[in-house]
Amino acid sequence: MNKRPAPDIDSPVLEWKKNEGPRSTRFDDIYFSTTDGLAETRHVFLDGIGAPQIWAGRSHFCIGETGFGTGLNFLTTWAEWERTSCPGACLSYVAVEGFPLSSDEIARALSRFPELESFTRQLTHVYPDPHPGFHQVHLAQGRVRLLLLFGSVIDMLESLVGRMDAWYLDGFAPSKNPDMWSADVLAAVGALSGPKTRLATFTAAGQVRRDLTSAGFQIGKVPGYGKKRECLRGKFLATVPQSKLAPWYQLPPPVSSDARIAVVGAGVAGTALANALRSGKSDVTVYDRHPAPAGEASGNPIGLLQPRPADPRQPFARFQTEAYLHTLHVLERMSEDHPIWKGPRGIVSLARDDAFLARYMNWLENGALPGEHARILQPLEIKDICGVDIGSSGVFFPKAGAIDPAAVCQALLGDTPCKFGAQITGFRRESGVWQLLSHEGAIVGEADAVILANGVEARDLVTDCELALHAKRGQISFLEPTETSRKLKVGLSYGGYATPITDDHERHVLGATYEVISDWVDPSWRQLKGRDHQQNLNFLADRSERLTALFGTGITGGRASLRTTTADHAPVIGPLFSNAEYDAAYGDLHHGRPQNQYPSAADIDSPPGLYVMSAFGSRGFALATLSAEILVAEMFGLPIPTEKPVIEAVHPARFLVRTLKRR
Ligand code: SAM
Repeated sequence: MNKRPAPDIDSPVLEWKKNEGPRSTRFDDIYFSTTDGLAETRHVFLDGIGAPQIWAGRSHFCIGETGFGTGLNFLTTWAEWERTSCPGACLSYVAVEGFPLSSDEIARALSRFPELESFTRQLTHVYPDPHPGFHQVHLAQGRVRLLLLFGSVIDMLESLVGRMDAWYLDGFAPSKNPDMWSADVLAAVGALSGPKTRLATFTAAGQVRRDLTSAGFQIGKVPGYGKKRECLRGKFLATVPQSKLAPWYQLPPPVSSDARIAVVGAGVAGTALANALRSGKSDVTVYDRHPAPAGEASGNPIGLLQPRPADPRQPFARFQTEAYLHTLHVLERMSEDHPIWKGPRGIVSLARDDAFLARYMNWLENGALPGEHARILQPLEIKDICGVDIGSSGVFFPKAGAIDPAAVCQALLGDTPCKFGAQITGFRRESGVWQLLSHEGAIVGEADAVILANGVEARDLVTDCELALHAKRGQISFLEPTETSRKLKVGLSYGGYATPITDDHERHVLGATYEVISDWVDPSWRQLKGRDHQQNLNFLADRSERLTALFGTGITGGRASLRTTTADHAPVIGPLFSNAEYDAAYGDLHHGRPQNQYPSAADIDSPPGLYVMSAFGSRGFALATLSAEILVAEMFGLPIPTEKPVIEAVHPARFLVRTLKRR
């Protein structure tokens, strides 16, 4: 994946005048009308796109906005949607913002609109940290998906994949905020539009009108709100733009909103999918051969959830951070009802050497994580946080922590219908429906779409589809605490990792070995190995004698499980495909013809309604919840909550495509 500058944001710089909403001193302009912001929003934007008639009878409607600001347009739209949309319908709202307000500032700005009070409260409750990138939150029990894109308008629109049914263009006045209205921005708006997409904006500036016309919109003028003489309304009438994805990564036609979906596997991948599907009101059933969720790799007694900061110029590094923040957001809400966290929050990553600290310092300064999520600390500060003297500097992640993996899976699963004790060994298509089959060939369930979330075993269920998944055996060791190690307050990572003891887990967990294995059918890999326990102790010794002295060597047991990985260490998320069809369509990729000469993967004959989500390695708990949102968006044709390079980098066919390019 190519490096490019990380999306950037800045603070909004506000001025609050008595009896008025906020004013941007950066742009010398107001966020909404000082006389009646709500009436302005209704006239310019809702009436402008033809709401509510435009969404009548639609099971899903998608609005894009440039300039989220205080969220007034969003909340007014959501309130109207709540009142007028058909039962069970879902609204997606995607908004770009380069200078995000804080949730307190939003609450203050919107306190002028008591009729929106309950909506404002719900928004500020889930509003993300103003960190650059993609942030998806659910409102109204999942009926409303808000995808906030924090970054400059052109970068964010260009990296977004989706199709809007309507647009609100709401930058500050074009004369004061030209970046928001450039021809490139308006062309990017056109590229995310489809047949008859509507558009509304408060401005009537001639250049905006001309550039929107060039971008494919038929534009008309109508009277503006208040003192504004005119504003613009438009309809997209140009040819529907090509998908932004490379032809071989283009997505199959969406599954229908009432499709029955089967998820195979109830580890963190399958349960995260169940959660994302159910919050979108889908009909989903989870199948697993074990009697309860988290029977395999997600079933360790305790795990560490921590971010993996990396160079923020890398799209995949940004995805990892966004996924971590998303997971924290999901777990914060679930922990109100479920005992997810074990012991106090926080994890310390011990510095290997000065180069380690310098690298982290560089990443953090460049925005790898929001400031309050990571601190570089000296040995004395680390001692304070850990409760024991480790004699090392390091990075402290205060919001990370030790989790109960099975409790997380159970909380994600909620009351999703499950068939436990059901070993799926294959599936076949009969009369347009997928039948899930047992070993004896009995039909265990039926579905319109199937998602394989069963780790490396997904490979055993597919034919003519090269899923380049590998199994890595990982062994953890349980360790009797020493008198000093009992005092450890937070998890440590140092190449390996060690968890603190907790009230219900009177032993440390040391992890973890990584060993490639090719035969996962023979269960002998489950047997614990003395050599691997020693390896887990060696991780401590390799870092420092002090760590060995702290923890001692009292191993009392352990657990082995399989992690699924890929050669490029990224997960696989997306549709299954047919090797033979890809060979036929893209067999001469190595000749390097222009992309537009190849057919779209959406049009070649692939098994309909089959998807996979797997290969999180040891990062399942940090990556699965956002990955599930990505797959659900791909399946239902919703705006995808990650940037284009990431969608391509996790596509299941990427290994085959690379082979075809090399051949
Ligand atoms: N729709 C908003 C509401 O309901 O409160 C009001 C939007 S305000 C008029 C314009 C917004 O555009 C501001 O929030 C501003 O920070 C944002 N903005 C201005 N220039 C931008 C840029 N280049 N990229 C992204 N956002 C930008």
